[in-house]
Amino acid sequence: MQELAEAIREEGKRLLESGEVDLVIGFTVGTLPLRAAPVFVRRAEDAEQLVWNSFCENNLAVYLRDIRDKRIAVVAKGCDTRAIVALINEHQLDRDKIHIIGVPCHGMVDRRTVARRAPGQVLAVREEGEEIVAEGESFSIRLPRSKALYRSCAACTHPNPVIYDILLGEEVAVWAEDPYAHVREIELKPAAERAAYFATEAQRCIRCYACRQACPMCYCEECFVDHTTPRWIESGVTPAGLQGWQIGRAYHLTGRCVACGACERSCPMEIDLVYLNGKLRKEVWELYGFQTGLIVGELPPLAVFQPDEGSDSTP
Ligand code: SF4
Ligand code: SF4
Ligand code: SF4
Repeated sequence: MQELAEAIREEGKRLLESGEVDLVIGFTVGTLPLRAAPVFVRRAEDAEQLVWNSFCENNLAVYLRDIRDKRIAVVAKGCDTRAIVALINEHQLDRDKIHIIGVPCHGMVDRRTVARRAPGQVLAVREEGEEIVAEGESFSIRLPRSKALYRSCAACTHPNPVIYDILLGEEVAVWAEDPYAHVREIELKPAAERAAYFATEAQRCIRCYACRQACPMCYCEECFVDHTTPRWIESGVTPAGLQGWQIGRAYHLTGRCVACGACERSCPMEIDLVYLNGKLRKEVWELYGFQTGLIVGELPPLAVFQPDEGSDSTP
C-alpha cells in the first residue's frame, strides 16, 4: 500500500508540475482514525497530501460532473472507473478532460465493523500485510482484511480499473465467487419475510439523502423526492414515504448502478441499501446480460428503445 501511495503522489505531482492537469482529486488522511478523506490538490507541492489505504472508500467520480472548466486527474478504483464510463455513456463527462490514475483495489475495509469489534474507542489504525491493527488506550486488536470488507467490496467483480490513462500497481485477482450471494439469500426467504425485511430497513431511514449525494449516478438537477408540482411521493418520514423513497431511488438506478457501495457506506443508519440495488443489477444481468460501466459506448438497456422490440420480458 505504501508503494502505491508513493506512486500516486509522484504521478499527482508530475501532472500538476507539467501543467497537464489543473486539479488532482484523490484521498488524504482523515481527521478521525479509520477514515480517509477526499482531497482536491491544485499545487504540485501539495501532492504530498495524497494517501492510499483500505479506507479510501468514497467513489470519487461523484465530483467530476461539477468541475467542467478544469482538466482533472482522478485517483480511481475499479468502481470509480465504472462510474466514469457510465457517466461518459450518459453524456455527463468528457473523456478528453479527465486523466484517470487507475489503482487496482484490494477492497475497502468497513470502518464500522472494525469499530464494533474493538473493545473501546479506536484511536489509531494501521495495516500490516493482510491485517488491520486497531489500537485504543488499553487494547490492540488484529482483524484479517478479508473478514472486514464492506459487503459491496466482498462481492466486487471489477476491483481493477476498467479504463485509465495510467495504471499504478499490479492488477489484483477477483475474489468474489457470487456477486449476488446477498440478494439470493434474501430472495430465498418467503414473501412475507422479504416484505418485513424491506419495511424494517426502510423504516430506519431518516431521509438525510446522504446516499443520494454519495452516488456518482444520482445527478438529477431536481431529485424526484424534492419535486413538489406534482409531488411524486410522500415527503414525510412515514412508512409510505420512506418505502417510496427507497424503491424510487433503486428504480432510478436500474441498469445504471455500478455496485460501488458508496450509498451504503454513507448511510448513517447503516441501512442495507446494497440488496435493493443488487436485486435490480441481478435482474438486468439475467434479462439483458448487461453490467454497467464496463465499455465506453455501451448504453444501458433501459436507455435504448427499439420500436420493433416485444413487450415480454424474454432477453
Ligand atoms: S467495489 Fe470493488 S473497486 Fe470499489 S472499493 Fe470495493 S472492492 Fe474496490
Ligand atoms: S446506487 Fe449505490 S452502489 Fe449503485 S452506483 Fe450509486 S452509490 Fe454506487
Ligand atoms: S443515507 Fe440512509 S438514512 Fe439517509 S436517506 Fe439514504 S437510506 Fe435514508
